[in-house]
Amino acid sequence: MTDSSALPASARAVVVGAGIVGNSLAYHLARLGWRDLVLIDKGPLPNPGGSTGHASNFIFPVDHSKEMTQLTADSVRQYKEWGVFTESGGIEVARTEERMQELQRRMSSAKAWGIEGCEIITPARVKELVPFVEESVIVGGFYTPGVGIVDSLRFGTIAREKAQELGALQVFANTEVLAIDVEGGRVAGIRTSKGDIATDTIVVCCGVWAPKVARMAGASIPLTPAVHQMIDVGPVPHFKDTKGVIEFPIVRDMDTNMYERQDGSGLEVGSYAHRAILHDPEDIPSNEEAALSPTELPFTQEDFEKQMEDALELIPEVLNDESVGIKYAINGLLSLTPDGLPLLGETPEVKGLWSAAAVWVKEGPGVGKAMAEWMTSGESEIDLQSSDIARFYECQKSRTNVRARAAEGFNKTYGIVHPAEQWESNRGVRLSPFYEREKALGAVFYEAAAWERPHWYASNEKLLEEFGDRINMREAEWESRWWSPIINAEHLAMRERAAMFDLTAFCIFDVIGPGALECVQTVSMRQMDVGHGKVVYTPVLSPSGTFKSDLTVMRLGDDHFRVVTGGAHGMADLKWYADHAPDGTTVIDLTSGWTTLGLWGPRSRDILASLTRDDVSHAGFPFGTCRTIELDALRVLASRISYVGELGWELYVPMEQGAKLWDLVWEAGQAHGVAPAGIGVYGTTGRLEKCYRAFGFELDADFTVVEAGMTPPKVKGADFVGKEAHLRHRDADPIAVLCTLTVDDHTSSSGAKRYMLGREPILAKNGSRLVDAHGRGSYVTSAGAGPSIGKHILMAYLPPENANIGEELLVEYLGEQYPVTVQTNDATGVFDPENTRVRA
Ligand SMILES: Cc1cc2nc3c(=O)[nH]c(=O)nc-3n(C[C@H](O)[C@H](O)[C@H](O)COP(=O)(O)OP(=O)(O)OC[C@H]3O[C@@H](n4cnc5c(N)ncnc54)[C@H](O)[C@@H]3O)c2cc1C
Repeated sequence: MTDSSALPASARAVVVGAGIVGNSLAYHLARLGWRDLVLIDKGPLPNPGGSTGHASNFIFPVDHSKEMTQLTADSVRQYKEWGVFTESGGIEVARTEERMQELQRRMSSAKAWGIEGCEIITPARVKELVPFVEESVIVGGFYTPGVGIVDSLRFGTIAREKAQELGALQVFANTEVLAIDVEGGRVAGIRTSKGDIATDTIVVCCGVWAPKVARMAGASIPLTPAVHQMIDVGPVPHFKDTKGVIEFPIVRDMDTNMYERQDGSGLEVGSYAHRAILHDPEDIPSNEEAALSPTELPFTQEDFEKQMEDALELIPEVLNDESVGIKYAINGLLSLTPDGLPLLGETPEVKGLWSAAAVWVKEGPGVGKAMAEWMTSGESEIDLQSSDIARFYECQKSRTNVRARAAEGFNKTYGIVHPAEQWESNRGVRLSPFYEREKALGAVFYEAAAWERPHWYASNEKLLEEFGDRINMREAEWESRWWSPIINAEHLAMRERAAMFDLTAFCIFDVIGPGALECVQTVSMRQMDVGHGKVVYTPVLSPSGTFKSDLTVMRLGDDHFRVVTGGAHGMADLKWYADHAPDGTTVIDLTSGWTTLGLWGPRSRDILASLTRDDVSHAGFPFGTCRTIELDALRVLASRISYVGELGWELYVPMEQGAKLWDLVWEAGQAHGVAPAGIGVYGTTGRLEKCYRAFGFELDADFTVVEAGMTPPKVKGADFVGKEAHLRHRDADPIAVLCTLTVDDHTSSSGAKRYMLGREPILAKNGSRLVDAHGRGSYVTSAGAGPSIGKHILMAYLPPENANIGEELLVEYLGEQYPVTVQTNDATGVFDPENTRVRA
């Protein structure tokens, strides 16, 4: 029902866009008690002309991402609850053996995230389920019985009606947002074709138009409209007796990037295989101009020809039938982002301006619920960390970057994407001052937060010989991709001598002003009221006591703290601190101002001592402290902490002095056998041997500090976000325990040794899933080599009854099961458990 009355003068919040996302969000806000809500769309209802109106509307629940799987599962639950879900089953078919391996990986993800009933099936079984498939072109399939289609427009109508029944929502169709007023960095109102509304909260649920609407407020929603071609053919004789809208499982022809899904008497054939066809939001036709709707652009036949040939191979019975004609063909528009993930949360540029964009029908209601929770209580039940719109650095929001990555990612929609796979486009944007030195040393660069960062160095190949059979070589191509044994050699060089690490990608920001202590105390779990020169590693909690982040804070003065956090999540951390800064206290981004060189290993003190007159002895420079020291011509902020479990320092200098710092340490290090080492050591092998946790891997909003084995001995007196919940968690027995395991035997049925990469399910010895009392299945949070202990290390949360040292379990990897043993069930390292090295 649309309101015929005039727009209200003011509203508690305005939701812009009545597609699947806006409708879901408006409903969930109403459900959570929001009133005086307004939902606006420039098009007519119930189908205003956005992407939702022409979606194929199918849902495959299994994804390698936990976050996406959880959002999809919650959406399916909601669609089912309102009676708009039709279960059809779905099969992802493989034309190649490489794809069969990928389907085994999907099987692992299904088990890890608890999606039931999935199975790998033979071509004959595919034919049995979908008789019009030509089974000779396929080698197998992955069957998910829970696949289905939804009526997303009907869901939207029900959502609006329910919110209206609660007396919470007014809906205005044919009302276009033309401008957004911002005062003092905060939303003040919205101007539309039908009048203005004063409000301090606007949610942009505008799909492919989202960037244009955000720009009205001076904010950025970095996505691009992109074409996804789809045709509908029919009537199909095979479907003549079909009663409902779908009776046969949906087929995804993964190796050709296509799908075929029954639509009553017709068959929809969609493609992600054509060239990337990108648009700008400003160029999308208006509802009046568009022949069909603004997001159903004219079909470009030439882009579909190859795809049609591929589809003909798989579905000849239907598509070769002369009586079956093309009923409908569009260049449909959907949203693509630089990293393929949604854009959710409050924009970092403008307070009160929220984004809920780049969301698919399959995630829509789940996103609506999670966003409403976030807007209401500062967090959502499903962790949205990967989708947080605050994750981007300025350079990542550029049109060039968005389009380059979207174009590159488009054909990977059904692709086999290795977990470590790197982007090829738009590289070389952020270069550290060490870059030229690193290049000369044969660095293999991976990208982190748009920085080029060495993962290992070809020049270290000579170390392979030195460390000989202590280095594990990998036999299988999959695990050898994006990996080198040199990582393990660099690791051993660090443990035996010393290594230098480029940590420029750290996100660094200062909290300065009279309220600085209050700000860092409120956000950080650990005690921040410490002496000047103390470095504190701290979890950052959500209101419910789970992980929002983890990072280190240096106290540099009474009213001056420096926060150092991981590059990937740094911008979101900065926003969180800034959100808690009292008036008069500022949070200043120093990321592009300071570079960091890590120096660790038993010889690192000798190297540093040879460059400075300052006292760097254990007594003179204790662990967990920082201070400015002089290294030759440079004044360097040195911080004695370690993420690799070795004696050493993080050395900070202004960016332009980085090259000099590198040269000094490099030259001084030669006498001590220093090696350059990449992030393969820093992020994986070094940290895993010490069982150090990583945000986004072990630490997320699904687990508590207690479950992560990071309970501090005391809770500080000062208040902090999540304190109440944390106190409760301390008093109760944990529901899961973070453990470190090692693999006992890597031999697969083919005889080749296989090495897990992470996110695989951990199973009981009888092969059954391990599930804790909260329904969370056990899976590998991190995996990697432990060269010093000669074992492959896995971390996983286990139910308490399985979290026993020596407990024997299984890990499932690419369809086979391998024996593993629990080594530690707390934060004790599997290497140097007494921490003698860091405290040397
Ligand atoms: C051919 C095709 C098939 C697809 N099939 C599937 C599928 O099978 N499964 C799946 O999960 N996803 C599918 N998708 C993707 C899916 O359609 C979209 O991701 C989803 O519908 C986006 O929903 P939304 O609510 O964000 O955006 P939309 O549905 O586009 O809604 C945005 C709304 O914002 C309104 N708006 C924009 N600007 C303004 C303004 N200035 N003032 C007022 N209102 C404004 C628009 O009118 C529009 O109604 C498909 C996409 C295409 C193109």
